Amino acid sequence: MINSDQIKYPHLVLVVDDQEINRDLLGMILEDEYEVIYAQDGLEALEKIREYQNRLSVVLLDLLMPKMDGFAVLEAVHNDEYLNHIPIIVLTAEKSAELRALQMGASDFITKPFDMHEVIIARVGRIIELSEGRKLISAAEHDQLTGLYNKNFFFEYANRIYQYNPEWEMDAVVMDIEQFHTINALNGRKFGDNILRILGNEIRAFLAETNGIASRFEGDRFDIYCRRQDDYQSLMDRFQNKVNDVVKNANVRLRMGVKPWRPNVEPAVLFDRARSACNMARGNFMTNLVIYDDDMQKRELLSQRLKNELRQAVEEHQFRVVYQPKYNIQYDPPRLSSAEALIRWNHPELGMISPSDFIPLFEGNGQIRIVDNFIWAEAARQIAEWREKYGITIPVSVNLSRVDVFDTTLKDRLIGLVRDNGINFTDLKLEITESAYTENGDQLITLIKQLRKAGFEIEMDDFGSGYSSLNMLSAMPIDILKMDMKFVRNIEYSETDLRLIELVVDIAHYLKTPVIAEGVENERQLALLRGAGCSFVQGYYFSPPVPAEIFEKFIARELKLREQKSDPA
Ligand code: C2E
Ligand code: CA
Ligand code: CA
Repeated sequence: MINSDQIKYPHLVLVVDDQEINRDLLGMILEDEYEVIYAQDGLEALEKIREYQNRLSVVLLDLLMPKMDGFAVLEAVHNDEYLNHIPIIVLTAEKSAELRALQMGASDFITKPFDMHEVIIARVGRIIELSEGRKLISAAEHDQLTGLYNKNFFFEYANRIYQYNPEWEMDAVVMDIEQFHTINALNGRKFGDNILRILGNEIRAFLAETNGIASRFEGDRFDIYCRRQDDYQSLMDRFQNKVNDVVKNANVRLRMGVKPWRPNVEPAVLFDRARSACNMARGNFMTNLVIYDDDMQKRELLSQRLKNELRQAVEEHQFRVVYQPKYNIQYDPPRLSSAEALIRWNHPELGMISPSDFIPLFEGNGQIRIVDNFIWAEAARQIAEWREKYGITIPVSVNLSRVDVFDTTLKDRLIGLVRDNGINFTDLKLEITESAYTENGDQLITLIKQLRKAGFEIEMDDFGSGYSSLNMLSAMPIDILKMDMKFVRNIEYSETDLRLIELVVDIAHYLKTPVIAEGVENERQLALLRGAGCSFVQGYYFSPPVPAEIFEKFIARELKLREQKSDPA
């Protein structure tokens, strides 16, 4: 439970009276014990109440004032679900007005000319106590553990601040705790809860100084919506130090992401970006604070744009397929064996966009299917076209994405393509990246078994790029192993890498799985690979990925070789 005396800051009192003498008098009485702010009329009073709504303890309100009188203020506050928790004590000389004010929601009254000082202090103190007690008990909108708002109430509240006070420069701050689940697992839940409570207290103390609101969004994530701060690093340090003071024998590391205020950006968007920034601080030992900047903004806008324009891009034929040949190097000269289809996006304004920039985006939001459908269909069509035109079949491999593992329609879509184009299952090969195996091993094995049963051949792409182990190879039902480029890159300089390649090739041979080396760029690499027993090669040495028309010259050359030797490769 929240303990109200954990929060050590003076209560804030707003004194509203059009007469200066009354303001001075009340100020003099209250200033010893409270922080006092003032307003001269009803309009100014409402403004201040809105501005300080989350830390205002009580309002002392004169009833008869120019511009907007006290009754109007009472009514406005009473009808506002975000303000009506703030207690109001009316200042009045008339009995009838007293009654009316109480009926309109005033908590108490102080009569003019003013009562004895002690009476005023006692009344103000009692009302604050009462209202805080009430807040603690009936706090459905609060998070029990930290006393901060819960996320729904917080966002409603933030939206209102944004709506009604658009000129307030409110930054979004997201803070969380690195490896919080591990901390809980190691030290117990009580320990974890205590850290959250300490942070909750310190956040509330901070808010009391700055004006703002905060919530425990969930678990160990805190959202703070506060007036612009000059120095977030020191705020971060303040929270971290507080935790360090209390937690002596464990290493608890906080992370913070900040999205600075921009006009006309609503809180939900600000907090999304603050969270992205906070995530960027993850596992980053250089810094535990990331402030969302223009570069990140640009990248995020670009991502958003690409996502929005994908469909249109397909319709307007901005995508095309390029083909990179794979050669069988056990022959001399090497022989064309197949091709890999790779996608290219030629954007009318942004120019050529690399697949590494857009594939992950579309994997993230499910749109990858649109890309896949396009390129698979195009590849299948191309195989049939070449067979028709040249009388030989050039198998083409397409890339499956890691999220395709979960697509229950995948198999039928692929089978449909093979049937519709009258090609063989083994003509359309499927490349699946190694990291997909490590992420969803079991699902993937099931899927691959089904695809192979249908007749497809599977190539494991990027082998050795991640956390694969050699014994994984025997568990995986694959047809071809595609070694990652990084092995090839160092093969000329590193004896170890060369030995590694030999080892992989040996094991693959033992498993009767051919090996393809990717990223072969020069003659020397080719010779070493050949010597290591690697049968197939793909890379700039032979050709970069090229459009279908250009690829046809490799087919023509291959046809010539076949005529000369009359032994099909
Ligand atoms: P990947 O499947 O490993 O494709 C090989 C990448 O290496 C291609 O980059 C290719 O252009 C490049 N490359 C080929 N030979 C060489 C070489 O000798 N040296 C060097 N330095 N690079 C070489 P690209 O086309 O930019 O594709 C990057 C990645 O994007 C691909 O890696 C693949 O993971 C993904 N991708 C490309 N097209 C598709 C697609 O249609 N569907 C899916 N799901 N992913 C795709
Ligand atoms: Ca590939
Ligand atoms: Ca690859």
